[in-house]
Amino acid sequence: MTGHSPHSATAVRHQLPHDQLVDFLHHEIGKAGTGAIAVLILELRLANRMDVLTGSISMQAIKGYTDQCLDNLLRVADRYTNFSGEQVCLVLPGLANKDQGELAAIKIISELQKPFTIGEYRVILRPHIGIANFPELGHDAGKLLMYADIASRIAATDEQGYHVYGLDDHVETGSYSDLAIELDKAIKTNDLRVNYQPQIDVKTGRCVSAEALVRWTAPGQREISPGILVNIAESSGLLNPLTLMILNTALRHTAAFSAAGVDIGMSVNLPPRMLADEELPQIVQQSLDIWGVPAGNLTLEITEGSIINNSSSLAMLSRLRELGISLAIDDFGTGYSSLAYLKQFPAQELKIDIIFVRNIHKSRGDRQLVRSIIDLAHNFDMITVAEGVEDQKTYDLLQDLGCDVVQGFLFSRALTDTDFIDWYRQRN
Ligand code: C2E
Ligand code: CA
Ligand code: CA
Repeated sequence: MTGHSPHSATAVRHQLPHDQLVDFLHHEIGKAGTGAIAVLILELRLANRMDVLTGSISMQAIKGYTDQCLDNLLRVADRYTNFSGEQVCLVLPGLANKDQGELAAIKIISELQKPFTIGEYRVILRPHIGIANFPELGHDAGKLLMYADIASRIAATDEQGYHVYGLDDHVETGSYSDLAIELDKAIKTNDLRVNYQPQIDVKTGRCVSAEALVRWTAPGQREISPGILVNIAESSGLLNPLTLMILNTALRHTAAFSAAGVDIGMSVNLPPRMLADEELPQIVQQSLDIWGVPAGNLTLEITEGSIINNSSSLAMLSRLRELGISLAIDDFGTGYSSLAYLKQFPAQELKIDIIFVRNIHKSRGDRQLVRSIIDLAHNFDMITVAEGVEDQKTYDLLQDLGCDVVQGFLFSRALTDTDFIDWYRQRN
């Protein structure tokens, strides 16, 4: 490894197991007069995913490198833990003021974005960091983690690569516990909406299916982003009823579409955590039965990261497949799975993430990556769906690369059920 000069012999180990980091944060918050604490969520985004996908570089080697960088950069009192292969949480206690968290983030980003090599491979990370400051944001460790997580998602689209959670962001999430109460109410009173984004078959140019996307405007708020909505549901025990409600609404509309002569497939996003619910296959079967939708018309979309190295999730996927429904791997390319893992998944569809699709007309590397993903998916008898197609040029390129299905603003945003039928009739 080069590009960084670790003094590993003397470096302090700052890494803690996952649960101990939260305890550590509790403890530091409880200490009187500790000064400021910064909670950082660091997302390591691998630029050259192809090498991990093909198994040329192991994710462990990359983690070994980043852990060593952090051990060298951090102060004695700082601690961190790896939440997942791509996400690190850091707690920096005893800071003189809140600006120090920001300085630490700048230091970490500038160090981790230096290219390094593993074996003969050059590795490039595009790290970004979300920051939540104590005591500004209160004394609740869980909330500080959540705020840092939200900030990291904002940082993902921010030029400087980091974002400090602030009052403006607060407006979007409102008061966390209040939102959970509102969400509970909204699920019970059917106040959430589900909209449908068309998916177009590249060969025929016809709309063959739709993706169900949830929409919610909480009382007195702007529309809550679906990502935050699912997060709130997860941490307040509402994930199961939320998913059930979305699945049922989507299947009810699939039946209504069919009655209106719009016979299409329906894709529904399944939060990874739902895979741990032993009753999931029964729930899905019941919903299909209630609305009389053939199993073959339903696809469940699951993010790639959630299925990696998890044998019980894989077993659940097989049980779902036995119902006759299809499975799609969502956001493919953003996690760290090697393409070799792909053949273990009983999936029929691979969704290529928007971050690659967006740049194919500018970046040869991304074009190459998309081509490899498509070829590989075809080798495993999977179809490929490209998301985020916004212009004709991108569409033409995807067609050249052999992509099967596309979805994006070029065709339509997600539409209400009635608008969807109108849109479909005009197009098909
Ligand atoms: P996703 O599953 O990757 O969904 C695609 C997202 O890309 C949607 O954002 C969609 O509106 C957006 N999109 C589609 N075409 C384009 C395009 O051409 N350009 C751009 N810039 N964006 C495009 P949305 O609806 O905000 O959803 C964001 C994420 O929230 C989804 O990502 C999914 O992970 C989650 N989500 C949305 N609805 C649901 C749901 O019903 N259940 C669950 N579990 N998660 C959901
Ligand atoms: Ca999706
Ligand atoms: Ca996606």
